[in-house]
Amino acid sequence: MSKRVGIIGGGAAGLFAACQLKRLKGSSNIEITILEKNPVPGKKLILTGHGRCNITNRKDINKLKEGYHDADKFLYPALKEFGPEDTVRLFENEIGLKTKEEDNNRIFPVCDSAVTVRDRLVSYITGSTKTVCDCAVKAIRKTTEFEVDTAKGKFTFDNLILCCGGSSFPKTGSAGDSYRFAKELGHDVIPVRGALAPLKAAGNDRDFCKSLSGVPVNARVSLYSEGKKAASKEGELLFAEFGVTGPSVMEISREVPKDISGKDVYIELDLVPSMSDEEFDKELQNLIGQHADTKITTLLSRFVPQSVAAETAKRAGTEGLYAQGFTKENRKNVCREMKHLKISLAEAVDINIAYVTRGGVPLKEIDRKTMESKVIPGLYIIGEALDIDGISGGYNLQACMSEAYLASKNILNSN
Ligand SMILES: Cc1cc2nc3c(=O)[nH]c(=O)nc-3n(C[C@H](O)[C@H](O)[C@H](O)COP(=O)(O)OP(=O)(O)OC[C@H]3O[C@@H](n4cnc5c(N)ncnc54)[C@H](O)[C@@H]3O)c2cc1C
Repeated sequence: MSKRVGIIGGGAAGLFAACQLKRLKGSSNIEITILEKNPVPGKKLILTGHGRCNITNRKDINKLKEGYHDADKFLYPALKEFGPEDTVRLFENEIGLKTKEEDNNRIFPVCDSAVTVRDRLVSYITGSTKTVCDCAVKAIRKTTEFEVDTAKGKFTFDNLILCCGGSSFPKTGSAGDSYRFAKELGHDVIPVRGALAPLKAAGNDRDFCKSLSGVPVNARVSLYSEGKKAASKEGELLFAEFGVTGPSVMEISREVPKDISGKDVYIELDLVPSMSDEEFDKELQNLIGQHADTKITTLLSRFVPQSVAAETAKRAGTEGLYAQGFTKENRKNVCREMKHLKISLAEAVDINIAYVTRGGVPLKEIDRKTMESKVIPGLYIIGEALDIDGISGGYNLQACMSEAYLASKNILNSN
């Protein structure tokens, strides 16, 4: 008799699992079925990498694992067994999609098209996998087999891969159903919140960001919550109509408390991260001494773009002032705005625009060598349903791929 494998959710993790099952199954007699609630699979996948799909990141896995925060140890066996090099080889040699490496070891398809990635994955599994779309799963029960109630009737499976995603970007289909099913099957769920998200500024700080909308700067951004520094990261930051975004902002967003109402939560921007406060003040004094007839905004534009210099001078109350006559107090105010520019946050991370979900099924309930549930034998949980959120740069798709490999391998090896 053939083994019936059900994949709940045809997103990145589900499509990768179907690929891995197809390539690893050899002569095994298995029936692979994806149940997907949307009319087409991979709705989130086609948005990845700004429509280009950052498939993976070609860092050495010892370095790569650091991008998964507390999940580093858990993911190590999966990354070791099927790492970024394996992902690149799979896409190039089996799925038939050439890849290229960009800055920070990020891997993209040469065609720069996430839609093509999705379409190639779908054609690769066609023939080996039955994909049932418009098929929202409503309930899952474990008896001697897995019984799955759906919008298109009841399905039964011997093994189940649960990968309905997280709660972020719910318009793509991942609306938290993984957690409901996991709970119903006896798993715990760590409360979820958004990660890898832009941050919305409050009040006057929002106006400040809006006035610089679209301007990139290199800055160190630090998150403070109730007087304590919660996270800090240097990199490109982009001002936006609503606040700030960019890789460094997105990365620290996972540390913003779930509820910030009534709390003192803000970010601080260091617009000259290469210098200490003292070095910057000294450099400013030198410039002021050497360029008496120059406007302070012009001097500041040696460190930041002209528009940022102008808005920062305005915040420091030194707009229009010349170096000549610049007081110690003026200098102190400029140093504060250039090195400790405070932006209050309007709200906690908005899960609707967060790229990934923090929280989910606790890793201690999953066998890290197989991705099998320790609560329900035969159940495998992979992808964003798990309490894993990687940094940006191809980390999250690689995690899905590595987990999909382990789950598939173990399903094929088990009786
Ligand atoms: C805008 C954006 C850009 C991103 N860019 C990148 C990138 O370039 N590189 C990277 O590594 N990561 C990126 N990510 C993160 C990455 O897309 C996710 O980590 C990944 O898609 C998670 O895969 P998943 O299969 O677990 O969940 P999803 O891809 O969300 O898939 C879950 C699937 O389950 C289906 N589903 C949900 N409930 C049910 C149900 N009840 N019944 C049946 N089906 C159901 C959903 O419709 C969906 O198709 C990005 C995310 C976003 C939002």
